[in-house]
Amino acid sequence: MKVWTVGTSSAVPTSDRGLPANLISYKGERILFDCGEGTQRELMSKKLGIMDISRIFISHWHADHFSGLLGLIQTMEMEGREEPLCIYGPPRTEEFTENILDTGYFSRSFDIFVENITEGDEIVGEGYRIEPFEVEHGVNAFGYSFIEEEKRKADKEKMEEIGLGASPKIGKLKQGEEIEWEGETVEPGQVIEEMPGRKIVYSGDTSKCRNLIEHAEDADLLIHESTCLDEMIDDRRHHTSARQAGEIAREADAERLVLTHISRKYRNRGRELREEASKEFQNVEVADDGECFEIKPHRPEDR
Ligand SMILES: [Zn+2]
Ligand SMILES: [Zn+2]
Repeated sequence: MKVWTVGTSSAVPTSDRGLPANLISYKGERILFDCGEGTQRELMSKKLGIMDISRIFISHWHADHFSGLLGLIQTMEMEGREEPLCIYGPPRTEEFTENILDTGYFSRSFDIFVENITEGDEIVGEGYRIEPFEVEHGVNAFGYSFIEEEKRKADKEKMEEIGLGASPKIGKLKQGEEIEWEGETVEPGQVIEEMPGRKIVYSGDTSKCRNLIEHAEDADLLIHESTCLDEMIDDRRHHTSARQAGEIAREADAERLVLTHISRKYRNRGRELREEASKEFQNVEVADDGECFEIKPHRPEDR
């Protein structure tokens, strides 16, 4: 599974950093989280086809997080897209999206389904689900967890021990059903190992927030906003410093932290941001635009 930090600036872009967007690629499906201005161009420059994007999740309706939507949809239209596109976000997403799509003379070759979602909803796709959760940003704002389905794997040694070998009955055991084998009942738990799926969490914009820490628990990758160093956090209400992002990753027991949403004031100070966060949480890096992060599948020995 791959994740691209497509745009990594905060509210104002710089020559090196575009406005917020992140892309998850999973089994041929592409899911976009936020769509700041310039998102489609950055995707093209990384040869990430925009026509494969099936769902777009908006974290909140500050312009830096949605200002690329109209252009992206316009290009999909020009390219003759026929597949539907789904857009999700916090309350008023339907209203705001409708306003955007009512701008100018604009025809549409494909359906766009828009949904206001709330914490507790699950958007289920093939092999994964996405959960929105509330964060603290002064307006309706979500973070999102992408959670892969757990995997069921047969333990070859245990299978051979009871003489099952590569039996086709493995399918039933994987589905959680018991089977009869040579006069004995075999329970799934005797030979099947359940591996939790991978988990990627995106903070959106937020101050340090308990709800986010709970939803980011055991994340393989936490992409967290880190607008500034701690020295400026009192001036940036509703945002997070690098140090706080490090605390959050540690408290959530995350595996890896990637800092994004970097204020232009810190455009040449990535090393300081990383160092400040690393005092709280070691496995941290500052994202660049278009950077790709790969998340390897879990193995039984990782547990
Ligand atoms: Zn922002
Ligand atoms: Zn914001």
